[in-house]
Amino acid sequence: MQLAKKIQPGGGSAIREIAKKTVLNPNIISLAGGLPSPDSFPVEEMRACFDAVLSKQGRVALQYGATDGYLPLRELIASQWRGRGVAIQAENVLITCGSQQGLDLVGRVLVDEGATVFTESPTYLGATQALRAYGPAFVGIGSDQKGLVVDALAERSSACGGGRAGLVYVVPNFPNPSGRTLDAARREALDHVAQSRGLVIVEDDPYAELSFDGSSLPSLLSLSPGNVIHLGSFSKILSPGIRLGFVIAPVHVIRAMEQVKQGIDLHTSGLTQMAMATLLESGFMDGHLQRIRELYARKSQVMCGAVRTHMPPSVRFEEPKGGMFMWLTLPEHIDTTELLPKALAAGVAFVPGAPFYVEHPERNTMRLSFATASDSNIKTGIERIGSLIRGCT
Ligand code: PMP
Repeated sequence: MQLAKKIQPGGGSAIREIAKKTVLNPNIISLAGGLPSPDSFPVEEMRACFDAVLSKQGRVALQYGATDGYLPLRELIASQWRGRGVAIQAENVLITCGSQQGLDLVGRVLVDEGATVFTESPTYLGATQALRAYGPAFVGIGSDQKGLVVDALAERSSACGGGRAGLVYVVPNFPNPSGRTLDAARREALDHVAQSRGLVIVEDDPYAELSFDGSSLPSLLSLSPGNVIHLGSFSKILSPGIRLGFVIAPVHVIRAMEQVKQGIDLHTSGLTQMAMATLLESGFMDGHLQRIRELYARKSQVMCGAVRTHMPPSVRFEEPKGGMFMWLTLPEHIDTTELLPKALAAGVAFVPGAPFYVEHPERNTMRLSFATASDSNIKTGIERIGSLIRGCT
């Protein structure tokens, strides 16, 4: 059967392809997937919330619901953000099936064919995958230890001047894959550059609450609510399986997204949204977040220790301060895409860095996740990668 022209052969995510090879093979230690730790899932609390919703409001929960989401949940999210000084209402919030759907909605509502989309380099692969369907021209902007290099954005965006207005897509906190948090001064500068160039900022922020020491920087949304589309997610702080995320945006954007979401899936599961609202109201999240932060901080330390012990000093990395990922830069002559089959044969999986770049990939990079593997598997996995790297030098 002939597929539509827009379907690109082999266009799937490189990470999902690795996952297919590793998930069913117990001999491979996977440091590849971006899966949250199952130890962090609050199974009993979730069960209690679903039970409570079904007992008290079962007939509402099982009915079709509003496309923009369950109003009490939208209100809870809006009030949480008002508490952080961002003057939004429920009408600025749309509930989505994970923030991945938010990315697709951004593409549908804000990206014209040929529009420029600036991304960090490297950036979240799922974002480029989602937005690519709408035909933008991607421009990769380098990042360093302070996150996106905003001066480079200013330069490249003025060089693109006269083209179609575009977007700048950023994951400001502990990003997937690089872990390079955008520092406070650069947030201000990004806001300024975006406004002066007519660029909308898409702030994709699923990791903000996974700061190991609990600290946070001002969100881009708080700097410029009129020019930012903020994507939030419950995947990394609660469960990815419940598929719950949200978009915060100006009302006319939310209305347009609501209209297109209607054509995609009518609405996000009402039962799940109601259970989520019950959980948020119960006050459970504060203690829960603290436990996840401690868990990931510890696992990150295990991985850092293993990298220091088992990898040659020519391997560069930053100690993560939050999130789930560690980004390694190997000596330049090592191409991690070529290293991967050897790693799989040695019983360990990582994600090569190249697919995370929209242009000029740094082929000597790799992403490792410390969230899912056990401590002993982290150590063994790193030891295996370390000996492969030593074999290349
Ligand atoms: N954005 C980023 C930066 C991510 O890392 C992920 C998950 N890997 C997503 C969005 C999608 O998350 P979800 O759809 O589960 O909310």
